[in-house]
Amino acid sequence: MPEAEIGLIGLGVMGANLALNIAEKGNTIAVFNRTTEKTRDFYDNAGDLAERIVPCETIEDFIQAIRPPRPVIVMVKAGDPVDEQIEHLKPLLGDNDILIDAGNANFRDTMRRFETLKDTSLTFIGMGVSGGEEGARHGPSIMVGGTQDAYARVEEVLTSISAKFDGEPCCARLGTDGAGHFVKTIHNGIEYADMQMIAEVYGILRDGFAMAPKEIGKVFEKWNTGRLDSYLIEITAKVLAADDAKSGEPMVDMILDRAGQKGTGRWAVIESQMMGIPATGIEAAVAARSLSAMKEERERAEELFGLPDNRAMADEDREKVIDALEQALLAGKIGAYAQGFAVMAGASREFGWNLHMPTIAKIWRAGCIIRSVFLDEIASAFDETPDAANLIVTPKFAEMVKETDGALRHVVATATSAGLPVPALASALGYFDSYRRARGTANLIQAQRDFFGAHGFQRVDDPTDGQHGPWGGTA
Ligand code: NAP
Repeated sequence: MPEAEIGLIGLGVMGANLALNIAEKGNTIAVFNRTTEKTRDFYDNAGDLAERIVPCETIEDFIQAIRPPRPVIVMVKAGDPVDEQIEHLKPLLGDNDILIDAGNANFRDTMRRFETLKDTSLTFIGMGVSGGEEGARHGPSIMVGGTQDAYARVEEVLTSISAKFDGEPCCARLGTDGAGHFVKTIHNGIEYADMQMIAEVYGILRDGFAMAPKEIGKVFEKWNTGRLDSYLIEITAKVLAADDAKSGEPMVDMILDRAGQKGTGRWAVIESQMMGIPATGIEAAVAARSLSAMKEERERAEELFGLPDNRAMADEDREKVIDALEQALLAGKIGAYAQGFAVMAGASREFGWNLHMPTIAKIWRAGCIIRSVFLDEIASAFDETPDAANLIVTPKFAEMVKETDGALRHVVATATSAGLPVPALASALGYFDSYRRARGTANLIQAQRDFFGAHGFQRVDDPTDGQHGPWGGTA
């Protein structure tokens, strides 16, 4: 039996593709799956790569097949199955063997698992993998959380299978324990916001201008050659161009408008709220998916209220609005990414991860779902201004905001007047407008809080805490 460099448990969609990728890059890999038939099918269909795959039908054979210290990638359903796997493996693994959870774990579970294994001879890596099936097979973006020593043992294999941007691997150790899974969670949150804003723009073109899917697809195709060049814009153009074989209708028209979600977007929102760092774009996107799921309620509400008159949109010059939409999408994207990076900076402080923002932007430039040229600009903005409080105040992005926020305002105002929902784009505008206004309106909130709860405030002419207003009883 050949000695494997690494092992992988869980030959589902992601695990099978990751294992083939690992073998293709010249590494021998041992594989095991709970349902043995899947292991056999996987091996039988691996073609030439089978010579570097060691299929194992028992977990004991699997462990024996790997060269110590053994790195074992666990790519099973997130949650309890990961804990079950860890419990199975613990008595079988030896000194310095490394358990790598590569699923979409909640980073708090990763921290707990890290802590549980801390006093054993095993080490734990929490590894975020992005890029879906295609990425896993041909080069994902890999976000690692774990000790430097554990990473050193697997770095060569992981960098060999990761995506490359200009020859640089999209794989990095970002910090200890939950760092990799946290960054993956924020990646997914940003992905939600990106997708929602694209869907809002599609809605304006479909419902505001009655454009057909293929026409809208052409718009996205053109944008994909400009500053919005990204995987999500590229696949949007392809999706809108596709026809349904069954009905002959555009495929997108045959799909129910009820979006699913598996939890990572929601986790991103919860964590940002826990830290008190606004991530309104991600929040709007998660809420929009939840609202989309309320299909029957929405149908009843449309019967009750009808739809708003959208003449405001029809009176607009379509070509001008399309140009504005491109700019607005860029402005909205800046808002969502600025928020996501601010949340990661907050988590880095809170959990002592020392996250390096340019590295995160760099490993997202290829392989992952939000890959884009835009991330290259974010990487260089953070490289040039490492201490920036927020992406939007880096010189490069401040210029981009100044160039695009007028278009965002126009799009949000026009869509809103026409009754077309743009919650994520509007949230980006609200974020900019609030962030750049030195004198906000929280003075009134403070007065109200003091009025009903004697919470106290600071005066503009005296920063002492706990001062009160002249309202009866609390003054
Ligand atoms: P999948 O195709 O549904 O496969 C699930 C795998 O988990 C199967 O190998 C299954 O084994 C195994 N499994 C489930 N429960 C188990 C248990 N109690 N004990 C042992 N094995 C168990 O899932 P997937 O899409 O590959 O996703 C795997 C992980 O990657 C998840 O955490 C997911 O969130 C994450 N992820 C997915 C994507 C994606 O695009 N799909 C992208 C990034 C990350 P059996 O064959 O025996 O059922």
